[in-house]
Amino acid sequence: MTDSLDGTVALVTGASSGIGQAAALDLARHGARVALVARRTDRLEELAGQIGSEVGADALTLTADVTDREQAQRAVAQAAEHFGRLDTVVNNAGVMLLGPAVDAPLEEWERMVQLNVTGLLYVAHASLPHLLRAAEAGPRQVADLVNISSVAGRVARNGSAVYNATKHAVGAFSEGLRQEVARRHVRVSLVEPGAVATELASHNRPEVQEGMNRRFEGMERMEAEDIAEAISFVVTRRRRVAVNEVLVRPTEQE
Ligand code: NDP
Repeated sequence: MTDSLDGTVALVTGASSGIGQAAALDLARHGARVALVARRTDRLEELAGQIGSEVGADALTLTADVTDREQAQRAVAQAAEHFGRLDTVVNNAGVMLLGPAVDAPLEEWERMVQLNVTGLLYVAHASLPHLLRAAEAGPRQVADLVNISSVAGRVARNGSAVYNATKHAVGAFSEGLRQEVARRHVRVSLVEPGAVATELASHNRPEVQEGMNRRFEGMERMEAEDIAEAISFVVTRRRRVAVNEVLVRPTEQE
């Protein structure tokens, strides 16, 4: 049994590509009005156009770098002000820069920590007052904060130590916060994808990309829509049901 998202508002970070783009579209298909957050305005506007023509729903584009505290806060505030509420937040923007830790460019570690951890925390902090209000007085009397982690947030591997560290941090934050707000009907959930065909790997140095291609050679990766469906599943449960954690791997991923 799924609840419709009619009358609710969802904000998705990293909505300009991959999982965030597919999730925003799918939430709109379930009835949510959506706020789309990322740095590439043209891609957000393209998606807003698609949502408008396909679903007939109102989508708001918010150009923001969520690693900047004020931009993250402003994006959340603008979404809540424009739509008058905020019921669902998908904290999805992330970057994965792999390779050995020894002699790794420190700039890559900084980018991952700033986006995967600090940016996610900024968005969560700014969103929580709105989510708590929605859970108290919204159409569904429940609200959702979905944090996108990874298989890498469950299992550490040689070659992804810092990415592992950032995604384990997402898991720890999510569980602590879940316990804090559970009684107030804000559900804090973790979605942990395995390999999905998106732009994520393309930000790596060529030698790292070659290693990743070898690892996944001959394996069918998931599509962004597969994870969007998992996110929609989480946020359309009845008020009494909280799906705390969803680990989704490609069938062939070991
Ligand atoms: P993409 O690279 O396709 O998407 C990343 C999104 O994050 C883009 O929309 C990008 O938009 C946005 N983004 C990047 N930097 C910032 C920033 N500073 N401020 C705001 N938005 C930003 O990757 P995926 O869709 O694959 O990744 C989405 C999430 O899923 C990530 O958290 C990733 O770790 C996780 N994940 C992905 C897996 C995969 O195999 N693809 C596996 C496991 C987890 P823009 O550049 O326009 O700002």
